[in-house]
Amino acid sequence: MVLAVTIKLVLTGPNPMMWRTGLLCALLAALLLPLSSQGAWFGQQAAIMGTRIGVEVWHDDEQTANRAIESVLKEFHRLDQALSPYIETSELYLVNDGASAQPVPISKEFYDLLETSLAYSRLTDGAFDITFASAGHQYDYRKEIKPTDEALDQTRPLINYRHLTLDPDTQSVHFKQAGVRIDLGGIAKGYAVDRGIHLLEQRGIENALISAGGDSRMLGDHQGRPWYIGVQAPRDDKALAAVLPLSDTAVSTSGDYERYFEADGVRYHHILSPKTGRSAEGLRSVTIIGPNAMRTDALSTSVFVLGLKDGLALINRQKDVEAVIIDSQGQMHASQGLEDLKQSETTEIQPTHLGPVNTNPIRPAGAVFVPSKAE
Ligand code: ADP
Ligand code: MG
Repeated sequence: MVLAVTIKLVLTGPNPMMWRTGLLCALLAALLLPLSSQGAWFGQQAAIMGTRIGVEVWHDDEQTANRAIESVLKEFHRLDQALSPYIETSELYLVNDGASAQPVPISKEFYDLLETSLAYSRLTDGAFDITFASAGHQYDYRKEIKPTDEALDQTRPLINYRHLTLDPDTQSVHFKQAGVRIDLGGIAKGYAVDRGIHLLEQRGIENALISAGGDSRMLGDHQGRPWYIGVQAPRDDKALAAVLPLSDTAVSTSGDYERYFEADGVRYHHILSPKTGRSAEGLRSVTIIGPNAMRTDALSTSVFVLGLKDGLALINRQKDVEAVIIDSQGQMHASQGLEDLKQSETTEIQPTHLGPVNTNPIRPAGAVFVPSKAE
């Protein structure tokens, strides 16, 4: 739209040089904007839930678009206040504080989140387990702190989703053991993205993208074309391993390169194997494509824990999700529905084998934005 306004001003100007520039701009505009387009993209970014949130909305009215974006950011703030393990008034904090002593009544929303988390624990044979936090709270990746072997021996048995009891009659949660803790970090951002998309839909928005770190969801397409979502190369933050053309879907990436430190040759990162209480080994990143962001978020964490063989088998059993997995050798693997995604090294942007290069933005499904060579 800015471009179109510029053209108008230039074309009415007296200077012939400006005419030529104007003509060039008009040609460019014709290439970039479909003839029928009656709107523009509006976007905002914010730091919420410990990550970067991006909201982009296509609309013909700026004020309406901005109000819609504000409503999404407000929802992210609300969920941060409810689900943060650090905020002492959050529902999650209160549960961790009291649920070992006695059942704690919780909101319907929180109850549903716990129920969904338990369903993923059962689906993944315990790879996804929100009680990972029983040992997980002993790590501080920023300060490079990890539990001693003795400390981990104490807390490891507390990681077990079966320690959690939900009572639908009293809508309460109870921990069967003292010392159990939960953390919704493996599902909360996906849930928040879904809530945001729901709010945009309620306002009649038909094309949008919401991203929260490694979790994104698209509403509709990008002006008649797919969005191009880049999968970040895990060991080179300037490169993309693959580019996926996607519309009207969710995509999440879990990687060992987002929050980690190295000590004694070991990479301590934020995805823990519930069996060991230590960082899951064998993969560098897992990208899941699926119908909603809570599902892709939970499954990306789960597949990371399960590893290549069991993780791919799980995804291939699900009808509605696909996976792109990068193993510890840097090799890429894809689920059955993505057969055209050939195995490749993870250093180059390779958009051509996935579809035509176009002018759509390329969003990495990892936490860091990488400007695309293909743009
Ligand atoms: P991100 O937080 O970057 O979206 P992931 O979706 O991969 O990353 O989720 C990692 C987060 O999930 C961790 O920071 C932690 O809060 C939580 N988590 C770690 N291990 C597990 C696990 N085995 N099951 C459930 N949640 C986990
Ligand atoms: Mg996840």
